[in-house]
Formats: sequence, structure tokens, C-alpha cells
Amino acid sequence: MSSPSELDAHLAQVLERIGEVGRALRWKQAVEEGLSPLQIRILGFLADHAGEGVGVARLAEELLVSKPTISDSVKLLADRKFVVRKPDKNDARSHALHLTSLGKRHVTAGTPMDAAVAELLPEHKEVLLLGLMAVLESLFRKESVQMQRMCFTCKHYEGDRKGKHHCLLLEKTMQVAELRTDCAEHEVA
Ligand code: SF4
Repeated sequence: MSSPSELDAHLAQVLERIGEVGRALRWKQAVEEGLSPLQIRILGFLADHAGEGVGVARLAEELLVSKPTISDSVKLLADRKFVVRKPDKNDARSHALHLTSLGKRHVTAGTPMDAAVAELLPEHKEVLLLGLMAVLESLFRKESVQMQRMCFTCKHYEGDRKGKHHCLLLEKTMQVAELRTDCAEHEVA
């Protein structure tokens, strides 16, 4: 039987490997579709934040890429009719980006990673999600990584991070599958 430290090292190695595989899959998908990995991330972000008036500045901040680089990628996505720019309803001087029906079709097509996760047993999915959220929380608290707008770092979260989860703001008891990792209402604890 492996010692706890061996198990820790093995887990950390597998997480690194999954990150590498995820990046490689994104590259492969991008090459096959004639898009860059950054453009695929932009489409995914716009899909997850529809209705929030996401513009170039927000994308640059969230995806940790410079504004000129985001602008270039967005222009190509607009040229290929994956996104359109519309005046931001909250700020007439700015433009928000929206997925077109072509962009939406692209996002809902799914990835090999989605398919692999879908095959897990339901009980494994919940344990994995809780474990990964705990890893992300720890990295955020100890390593000054970018703010993770997840329940575990939110002042509205009340629970034990295992089987009890409640959102004080939404006044809702949450199942594991309902826990959020990118919540618009998040406020840092
Ligand atoms: S506000 Fe969002 S992140 Fe915070 S506890 Fe509620 S659901 Fe979770």
C-alpha cells in the first residue's frame, strides 16, 4: 500500500497530466476547426456568461491575456460569424460580444473531455468535484492564484464542503452538482 505522501504525489501528478491532456485536446480541436485555442476559450466563456455584457476588457482579465491579443482573436471570430458585437445595454460607449447561432452550435458540440467525464459513475463525479474544488480553493488561498468565483471561497457559502452546502444569498440548500465554480453573485469571503 502506498504511503499518504506517495498518494499525494500521485494525485498531484495525475492532476498535472489532466491539465496537459486538456490543453492538448484543445489544440487538436482548434487545429481541426481552424480556430486557435484562445478563440475556443473565448467562445466557451461567452457561452457561460451569456447576458452579462462581456466585452474585450472582461475577456482579457478573465482569460489572463492582453487586450490587443483578445481584440485580434475576437475580430477573426466576428469575421467567421461566430460572434457579433452589439452595444452594451449597460454602457452605450462599449460593445458586448454575443455568440451567433454558429458560435452556439460550436460550443454545444462538446469535447472529448466532456465525453470522458460523462462516463464516470455518478458517485465518482460528486467525490471528484468536491476534491477538485478543495484543491482549487487551497491554491487560491495559499498561492495567490486568480480569484476563483466558487462557492468555497464565497462569503455566502455555509456548509462543511462535504455533504452540507447552503447559499445564504440565494437562500438555497445545494446539491453537489449545483455548487458553482464561476458564480456571478460570488463575493470573496
Ligand atoms: S453566491 Fe454563488 S458562489 Fe456564493 S455561495 Fe451562493 S451560489 Fe455559491
